[in-house]
Amino acid sequence: MRRTEAVVIGGGQAGLAMSHCLAESGVDHVVLERGRVAERWRSERWDSLRLLTPNWQTRLPGFRYRGPDPDGYMRVGEVVDFLERYARSFAAPLEEGTAVVSVEPVDGGYRVVTDRGAWEAPSVVIATGHCDTPLVPGFAASLAGDVVQLVPSRYRHPDHLPAGGVLVVGASASGVQLADEIHASGRPVTLAVGRHTRLPRVYRGRDILWWFDAMGLFDEPIDEVFDPAVSLSQPSLQLVGRPDRATLDLPALRARGVRLVGRATGAQGGRVLFADDLVAYTAAADARLARLIQRIDIFAARTGLDAEVGPPEPFRPFLWPDAGPAEIDLRAEAIRSVVWATGFRRLYPWLKVPVLDARGEIRHQGGVTPFPGLYVIGLYFLRRRKSSFIDGVGRDAMELAAHLAGYLRVAA
Ligand SMILES: Cc1cc2nc3c(=O)[nH]c(=O)nc-3n(C[C@H](O)[C@H](O)[C@H](O)COP(=O)(O)OP(=O)(O)OC[C@H]3O[C@@H](n4cnc5c(N)ncnc54)[C@H](O)[C@@H]3O)c2cc1C
Repeated sequence: MRRTEAVVIGGGQAGLAMSHCLAESGVDHVVLERGRVAERWRSERWDSLRLLTPNWQTRLPGFRYRGPDPDGYMRVGEVVDFLERYARSFAAPLEEGTAVVSVEPVDGGYRVVTDRGAWEAPSVVIATGHCDTPLVPGFAASLAGDVVQLVPSRYRHPDHLPAGGVLVVGASASGVQLADEIHASGRPVTLAVGRHTRLPRVYRGRDILWWFDAMGLFDEPIDEVFDPAVSLSQPSLQLVGRPDRATLDLPALRARGVRLVGRATGAQGGRVLFADDLVAYTAAADARLARLIQRIDIFAARTGLDAEVGPPEPFRPFLWPDAGPAEIDLRAEAIRSVVWATGFRRLYPWLKVPVLDARGEIRHQGGVTPFPGLYVIGLYFLRRRKSSFIDGVGRDAMELAAHLAGYLRVAA
């Protein structure tokens, strides 16, 4: 049994940022990672993926991108390299190849059992990732066995798919990127569209995330949003990071020949059903984008940026896309595979502390759980809109490390 003051579970950006801040606060700790640092960037991303956040936004406590291309978008290998260098920069106390198999309360804190021995500590930080386990609709199980099904974390390259058509379900960042790449490989692609957040890559000559940053849109705290439940269920940004800074939205995909259909609602054998909601969802996404552009223009005028940036650009709504079919017979259309880009959920089978709510999510307020000394970090909108982003986890880590250090002082 080894003892320390804090056990951090997970060696991605969240676990490392937390480790950096704990070290700064003088808290003795260990970071347990079942694979290697940045494991999910190594083993759960497709080959062509680049960050959709620009390089200047790749910044963590005490470490940031300092290369020659601040406006570029890192490839996955560069993200791994960045996080490895981050861990080395402060000699993070990492134990790689160490999977946590249980966390249970004991007198004075928690016992953390791993496949390589046990730890005891008065505090534990869960940093096992918001994008943990693919969330696939239950009806996927009703699809015929000869339809190849996969999720983005298992997809690597279009050539790994069987020849023939592909149905991509989900039109957020992963779905639109995969639909585009698979279509470019010569396979006919149908994209099932649900709720989505349409964004231009560049507006008035500046990256859209530059505007978000300047306007503080990502800094919005969870306790100041109008309806936290609505904010928590927002779909991820429909963006891609490419050297040409091209916008990848539904009009662009349709112009390239991707067929758009409504939200997938059911499946049986070789048939997939779709809701008649494509027009409603694209109109809703357009309305949100129009409002955002209006806010940007008002902000630019108010702050004097009008003189520095390009002129306002006309908003082009994606009016009245075809409603799309209510049903597709995959075999009749030679569609051989389905990619479920339908988001993520989180599973904590090893967590023996009764801290999960009815949906299986960790109960917390800004990362502080009702169990003294038990924390979580890296979840979407944990404290702010950007909490699950590389650029967002740092501030949360500083605040949670301060809370944890204060707790240790009181508990001592
Ligand atoms: C496809 C995709 C693209 C993204 N692009 C961007 C982007 O462009 N910009 C951006 O800012 N964000 C992006 N994100 C969001 C976010 O940055 C990533 O999800 C990132 O990986 C989150 O880091 P994390 O440390 O919170 O979690 P993770 O990277 O998921 O790290 C969790 C770690 O915990 C480990 N672990 C899990 N269970 C255990 C256990 N029982 N014992 C020990 N270790 C365990 C895992 O191996 C993993 O290494 C993207 C996410 C996805 C899925």
